[in-house]
Amino acid sequence: VPFARLGDTAATHPVVMRGHTPDPRTVNEVFGFVLRCATLSAAHLTDYLVDVGTTWMMGGSETPRLCELAEQAGYWAPAATTSGHACYRLLDDADFLHIRLRDEVEWERQQRNDSRNPALTVPVRHRDGDSCRYCGRYVNFGARQGEHAGTYDHRVPGQPATVDTLVVSCGPCNSGRRDHPDADERYPLRPVPAPPLYTTRTVAFLAERGITVHPNITSKGLRLDLQSSAAPGSVPRPPTAPAEQPQALAPVDIAHAHSGETLPVRSSRGGSGRVGSGRVGPSAGSGSGRRGSRGGRRQRQAPPPAGGSP
Ligand SMILES: [Zn+2]
Repeated sequence: VPFARLGDTAATHPVVMRGHTPDPRTVNEVFGFVLRCATLSAAHLTDYLVDVGTTWMMGGSETPRLCELAEQAGYWAPAATTSGHACYRLLDDADFLHIRLRDEVEWERQQRNDSRNPALTVPVRHRDGDSCRYCGRYVNFGARQGEHAGTYDHRVPGQPATVDTLVVSCGPCNSGRRDHPDADERYPLRPVPAPPLYTTRTVAFLAERGITVHPNITSKGLRLDLQSSAAPGSVPRPPTAPAEQPQALAPVDIAHAHSGETLPVRSSRGGSGRVGSGRVGPSAGSGSGRRGSRGGRRQRQAPPPAGGSP
């Protein structure tokens, strides 16, 4: 989202205080004039440039005087656009004014579009399941925040994603990679999990796109014992989640989970919405996002699983 943001102390920033003249109204006049120009710069993603036409639109007949006062105070300096047109470049100082840059906004839009593109997300979720490709912890695509928030990470920043460059990541690894130029060294990519961990949310997500898989963890990351499809111990265990206890959780009768007794999961035939009918336990954070209502509709109340996540 493009925006212009004023610093907390913008009203007394040196450029503003330098604009004082014998007439006290002038400082407010110049301040307001410049800010009106700045908001248009932000909206049109001009990267701090204010073209001459904008100054006339905001200043009317007073434009030459206001532009000169703004320049004298240091609000902006004369510049030229890439096409050679005269303009002003606003002071780039977060204490006074912060404007998001075009590259930043467009990259954010690209990431958002990729994360909503089923041609990318379906094969990526099918391949990676519900575990982070960097740290291995389970993720929940119904959670927008927290250490288990499910996200997609672009491995090549600034480039539109492909299936090969988009991976499932937990929120902390995703934001950690964004903050470090040596992200690939700090967060090496793990191999594709075999077999992948799937929650009922992802099972349903894939089923709607014609891909049938079976749930093997709960929305809290607890392993289900899929005796029919996975050998014991073959599911990679999340390193930080409570689910690392090799405890089999009975999805229907929670009392069996406490006793450690294993019950088979009721497996689904025929794919779609009935898969993993939500009996595995309460879903964390369902209800957010577009798929929330579908996920929520399948939920039934059940006691929290033993050793649930904090
Ligand atoms: Zn992670």
